Amino acid sequence: MHQTISPEYIKFINAWHQIMYIATGLSLVLALVLYLIHVFKLSAIKTYKGKYDYIRLNQIKNYQFVGFAVAAAIFFYGNTVGDITVIKSLIYIFVRSFISLCVAVLFGYVIFLILKFYYPTKMENRLRRLRYAPRISKAGNEMKLLSEEEEDVHLDEGMQAEENVFSVDYDVWVDEQTDEVHIEKYSGYLEALECGSCGFRTLTLQSEEITREATEEHEGELIKHYKCTYCKAQRHTKFPIAKVLKSINEYKLPEDYVLKGQRRVKSIMIEIVSTKGDKKEYFFQNTEQVAEFLNQFEYDKDKEITT
Ligand SMILES: [Zn+2]
Repeated sequence: MHQTISPEYIKFINAWHQIMYIATGLSLVLALVLYLIHVFKLSAIKTYKGKYDYIRLNQIKNYQFVGFAVAAAIFFYGNTVGDITVIKSLIYIFVRSFISLCVAVLFGYVIFLILKFYYPTKMENRLRRLRYAPRISKAGNEMKLLSEEEEDVHLDEGMQAEENVFSVDYDVWVDEQTDEVHIEKYSGYLEALECGSCGFRTLTLQSEEITREATEEHEGELIKHYKCTYCKAQRHTKFPIAKVLKSINEYKLPEDYVLKGQRRVKSIMIEIVSTKGDKKEYFFQNTEQVAEFLNQFEYDKDKEITT
């Protein structure tokens, strides 16, 4: 028992497919354009430091948009598959749309997961290459990157204070023939707030004080005491504590880090894995830095490590 297929219906299906093919093409063009804009913008930046900042700030976000455009293309193309079935009944158009949507969302989500968990490590490697690629001075000489011990003479006290709390990391490049100095500022491993008095990123949390306990009925109140490690200015900020507190299994860091033969240590890598499975690598030049870092490191439960 077959339904008779009206010529209007066939016309409608054909028009529908035409629109979907055009939308597929447009989505793919959009994906390509978004990708090319990213590549062109990046290649227009001349300095390694500029490229570093651009990639760190925009690359993952831009790739995600490219991923969304491709997902849209998958959705539209899915709406053209299997004409013969669709011609039998209108209901198949909706079934097909729904399946296409599922496949497209799945694709978009997979891209999101890759960009969130797998890709950052790859990107970090590229960033590291950009950061440590030899700089060229105005005189055309290859500059030398000073070690943490050597660079302090070129940094003012505020900058050193920022480095000591790991909020900012300065790279000092020197042309040994002309004494040209080039200082680059990078985000450090730990968060420190900008001090309202001196303007350096040296405001660190000193202590927390619970002024009202949270119960199941009422929010609590917490006062955080901050102190600038450079100009010693203080700040006290109130925070509400959520009603119901869940216990959190905090990751415990190994405490006693002793490494003999400091002289022969080139670099130390620390990998910290959170209970959620995020991994983060940190690089240091000597064990004093590591000890100091571990001392200040706290796996902040409100915030993911994103630096
Ligand atoms: Zn200050």
